[in-house]
Amino acid sequence: MPTTRFAPSPTGRLHLGHAYSALFAAREAGPGGRFLLRMEDIDASRCRPEFASGILEDLGWLGLAWDGEVEVQSERLGRYREALATLRGIGVLYPCFCTGKDIAREVAAIGGAPHGPAGAVYPGTCRGVGGTERERRIASGEGHVWRLDSAAAGARAGELIWEDRVLGEIAVEPAVLGDVVLARKDIGTSYHLAVTVDDADGGVDLVTRGEDLVESTHVHRLLQALLGLPVPVWHHHKLLLGPDGKRFAKRDESVALAVLRESGKTAAEVRAGLGF
Ligand code: GLU
Repeated sequence: MPTTRFAPSPTGRLHLGHAYSALFAAREAGPGGRFLLRMEDIDASRCRPEFASGILEDLGWLGLAWDGEVEVQSERLGRYREALATLRGIGVLYPCFCTGKDIAREVAAIGGAPHGPAGAVYPGTCRGVGGTERERRIASGEGHVWRLDSAAAGARAGELIWEDRVLGEIAVEPAVLGDVVLARKDIGTSYHLAVTVDDADGGVDLVTRGEDLVESTHVHRLLQALLGLPVPVWHHHKLLLGPDGKRFAKRDESVALAVLRESGKTAAEVRAGLGF
């Protein structure tokens, strides 16, 4: 039986879209599998402890129980540093000293940003900075993030595929999101790195999440290959849309579980409305 997970970021309360995703992951684990809960709280500027406790309350109200302790990403920074060091050691990362302004200027100079399916990607300015200059700038304390050199990483990993229960077998496109940031200046990690390491360490073998994250899976599959991590199967489910045809956002109060609860909705009604 599979091990699945629900991995909310405590940047707000849960809404119906999250409820769907959580119920989906718990159902796919089934009675014989494991359903894990992970707080993706590395972005200290946006995450709040009261949102994390609110999320636990919302999930409890929905009738969801998870296996084991809640995993908290901000407590695992050392583990992410280790993975980052491994990637640096094999030469697939480079330090990027660009500020947001530098990137905007470069993009304007080349007549617009290179685009992937998910929007503008980093134009690669710092990829060509030579080894000696990199060392000098790092030693002088210049702020930098670490980016994945997607071309070098793709060449090292060779051809890869990932398997999705809805989409079938997909060939990895290493550059689909460009040279993504794997370590931010402030926290030394990023969504892509943390999620990949955590799913592997937790033994998650069926990653269920919304289809808005399909492009990220190319990056995660590549990182698994580079880090020698086990490879799960994915199931990217449809996103729940509001009456306006748009996906819910955390600011859509009307669909927050806490608000629905206060207005007298029962958990059974919410579950039934979502098809569970
Ligand atoms: N923390 C992410 C979110 O709230 C989900 C990450 C994932 O499922 O991989 O959108």
